[in-house]
Amino acid sequence: MFNQTVTEQFRTKLRGELIQPNGEKYESARKVYNGMIDRHPRMVIRCADGADVISAVNFGRENGLVIAVRGGGHNAGGLGVWDDALVIDLSPIRYTHVDPEAQTVRVGGGCTLGDVDHATHAFGLAVPTGVMSTTGVGGLTLGGGLGHLTRKCWLTIDNLLAADVVLADGSVVTANPRRNEDLFWAIRGGGGNFGIVTSFLFKAHRVHTDYAGPMLWELERAPEVMGWYRDFIVDAPDDLNGFFAFLVVPPGPPFPEHLHNRKMCGVVWCFAGPHDSAEETFRPIRNSLKPTLDLVGPIPHPALQSMFDALYPPGMQWYWKADFVNELSDDAIGVHMRYAPQIPTMLSTVHLYPVNGAASRVGKEETAWSYRDATWAQVIAGIDPDPAKKDCLVEWASNYWEALHSYSAGGAYVNFMMDEGEDRVKATYRDNYERLAAIKSKYDPDNLFRINQNVKPKAVNLAQERAS
Ligand SMILES: Cc1cc2nc3c(=O)[nH]c(=O)nc-3n(C[C@H](O)[C@H](O)[C@H](O)COP(=O)(O)OP(=O)(O)OC[C@H]3O[C@@H](n4cnc5c(N)ncnc54)[C@H](O)[C@@H]3O)c2cc1C
Repeated sequence: MFNQTVTEQFRTKLRGELIQPNGEKYESARKVYNGMIDRHPRMVIRCADGADVISAVNFGRENGLVIAVRGGGHNAGGLGVWDDALVIDLSPIRYTHVDPEAQTVRVGGGCTLGDVDHATHAFGLAVPTGVMSTTGVGGLTLGGGLGHLTRKCWLTIDNLLAADVVLADGSVVTANPRRNEDLFWAIRGGGGNFGIVTSFLFKAHRVHTDYAGPMLWELERAPEVMGWYRDFIVDAPDDLNGFFAFLVVPPGPPFPEHLHNRKMCGVVWCFAGPHDSAEETFRPIRNSLKPTLDLVGPIPHPALQSMFDALYPPGMQWYWKADFVNELSDDAIGVHMRYAPQIPTMLSTVHLYPVNGAASRVGKEETAWSYRDATWAQVIAGIDPDPAKKDCLVEWASNYWEALHSYSAGGAYVNFMMDEGEDRVKATYRDNYERLAAIKSKYDPDNLFRINQNVKPKAVNLAQERAS
């Protein structure tokens, strides 16, 4: 039976920490990046290594506990923590090992993007990940992983070579193109549904210094800029990435004072091609659109990756609404022009991340990520440090999304969704959903790993159908 004596016995098996509600570290251990999330787990296991993860999975399963898995804790819906759950916290597992000859890097399951950039940059290498260095490699990779290098070097999952996975029965397997291929297919986009990844092996690319940064324009020019951008990004060279943004200019350097707190639109560029062709690549953009502010120039890759970190420390209120977008029609731009000027707070923003270029040349069935035909992953994010602003963040993002959704491709990038229910998950995986459900039945038939964008095992679906 599950009681404190059993818990104390379990504690002796761990190298890491077991934190309970009466412990002094409990308050910090239950917090995740999104300050809107206020959940009270039954205990948090800060795992020191893979062995701790195995023990924790076995303990949770044998004692009938709900299990939540926490990597970097960045998930919008706070899926790294759950009320009354056993939280398996991977954040101490933060080793990296670069093999410069093979151009690979092995990464512990609790690493942040910054850990990987730090390790690889010293060798003139980079793994394509996301745009903020504090994000967890675990959740980002398992959901897909898009960022500054997506158009040149694919999604993060397309650079995953292998993973060590602790399964629901406590066994450990390696998933790669030759071993447990079905699992390897599923974890590339299917989230944390299939097990806990304690170690990732990535292919790295020769990227050291980018020619990158934001260009900004007056908000009134957004229809012109967006119209130009939608045509340009479709045929842009793969070396060039650029995500479109509506934003409020932060009141501090490097932004000039006369622009502080102004609502503007922008593109955050990243050119990762040959340095001598960077100026030439940007010349037509600069000539035709004449940005109000142009901060694009040479920048070390890790500096670009952490450019927004200071603006967005942990603990703020975040409310996200997302969709994949195939085409940006004039009507859709009209909707943006109704809601973007109403951005409710300085940190709230709207981003359209391109997922075309190299990423779109991988087949829809090659990984679990189904939307290879989408042009953008769009996210509307209401953000502010003040909890009293919660309602206005939710209202703005929800109304904006409602008005735009009919112009979208249907599903959304799982890593930009909150906890939005099964229909949204199905809309996101489309034809790949059934295959994911079959693999889930094989590796996690009892749905032990369900605090995620959950794909239900087929057996559970049948049982539910019988019960209803
Ligand atoms: C500020 C910010 C910026 C972001 N920028 C980007 C971006 O540029 N590109 C992008 O693609 N996404 C981005 N995201 C979204 C991000 O990918 C997701 O929030 C992702 O879930 C974060 O992973 P995590 O490990 O930090 O989160 P967590 O909250 O710890 O976990 C998220 C989910 O993944 C599961 N999980 C985590 N690690 C593991 C593991 N090792 N094994 C099994 N399951 C695991 C958890 O159980 C949970 O369901 C951003 C998020 C934030 C908050």
